[in-house]
Amino acid sequence: MLDCIIVGAGPGGASAAYHLAKRGRRVVVLEKAKLPRYKPCGGGVSPVVAQWFDFDFSPAIAAKVDGVKFTWQHGDRVAANLNTEPMWMVKRDVLDRLLLEQAQALGAEIRDETEVTALNFNGTAWQVSTTGGNLEATYAIGADGATGICTQLFGFEEREIRPGGVLEINTPPDAPDAVHFDFGSLKKGFIWDFPQGSSHTASAAIMRGSGKNSEVKKQLLNYAKQLNLDESQFTYYDCPTVLWSEERVFHQQNSLLVGDAAGLADPLLAEGIRPALLSGLRAAEAIDNSLAGDNNALENYTQILQEEWGKDMGYAKTWGDFFYNKYNIPGMSSQIYKIGVKRPVAAKIMSQILCGEMRYSDVGEQVIKIFKKFFKLGK
Ligand SMILES: Cc1cc2nc3c(=O)[nH]c(=O)nc-3n(C[C@H](O)[C@H](O)[C@H](O)COP(=O)(O)OP(=O)(O)OC[C@H]3O[C@@H](n4cnc5c(N)ncnc54)[C@H](O)[C@@H]3O)c2cc1C
Repeated sequence: MLDCIIVGAGPGGASAAYHLAKRGRRVVVLEKAKLPRYKPCGGGVSPVVAQWFDFDFSPAIAAKVDGVKFTWQHGDRVAANLNTEPMWMVKRDVLDRLLLEQAQALGAEIRDETEVTALNFNGTAWQVSTTGGNLEATYAIGADGATGICTQLFGFEEREIRPGGVLEINTPPDAPDAVHFDFGSLKKGFIWDFPQGSSHTASAAIMRGSGKNSEVKKQLLNYAKQLNLDESQFTYYDCPTVLWSEERVFHQQNSLLVGDAAGLADPLLAEGIRPALLSGLRAAEAIDNSLAGDNNALENYTQILQEEWGKDMGYAKTWGDFFYNKYNIPGMSSQIYKIGVKRPVAAKIMSQILCGEMRYSDVGEQVIKIFKKFFKLGK
């Protein structure tokens, strides 16, 4: 019998496979798409992820950026330099393939074009039904992304799926070494344009409230117009996401969730690759420990993720509630842009958080106090 089945071959599943295989565990990754598969995504990755792996990521890095530009409704610009390790820009098919190849080299088996259709726990093992036959494993990891089936099949709480979209733009970016965030043009959300060498990717997501996908698409097409692009120069893709919303449990009987399946993406900036890689590592450690006889290993997984990632996401959530105006206070988002982003020191803090040089918790309470005082809010 297999030690572990992993459903989904994105960064969460690939990271778990890599770290389980590294520990000598028998692991199979099941992926419904043909690999390498296209994944709509901005492709910005914090370089701090390198600490969790023993291989070189450079073959997957299309560009490195050390500049950040923020705008409000495509104007009112502020720029900052990272002055730190530059942030990586990747194409997801390339990054995800590199991760899977590294896992394979350590002994993980990857089966693509194999969709998981059902999972049942019989008391000692998971019976997994797929379009390519049945398998059995002691543990299962749900790494099947924002719209996968594992959350429900394992019996976890449902997550809120938020609208997002991506424009793949086949012209060179204006600034090949800077990322651009635009706030205010997409209501309760934002647009971010990341360079990818000779092309770039504009992404958008609605971070709070009940906005629809059609609004994301409309604002991205409007952005393309601002850049004077014609239709032959871009392609639009829907790309839903699940954001961190509260403290949750990520383990159940012999099963764990990682990445978007667990709802780990940053509720302020939608960063999801870093927590997918981190949760894959911690899930592999937990299963390895559990196989070695540690009865608390899976429970510890939830606790470790809450401490290592969730604590920061709590602050990101509160900042985002202000910034994306959960409270429906007129003008709140534009005021926060002025006090929380436009000042060079604030822009620098945001940039340092993005590239992993600073954590939300380093300045979290201070920022919340400023917001509350400014908007004369009580508790
Ligand atoms: C518009 C937008 C832009 C973004 N840009 C960035 C960014 O710049 N930087 C960043 O860090 N994050 C970004 N994110 C978030 C990031 O894309 C995700 O958080 C990340 O892809 C999560 O990885 P994952 O491994 O959990 O899931 P995924 O990458 O979604 O992988 C899940 C895999 O599971 C497979 N699967 C699903 N169901 C099944 C099944 N039943 N059987 C078998 N396989 C299955 C899917 O085919 C897929 O390959 C963005 C999100 C959005 C919405």
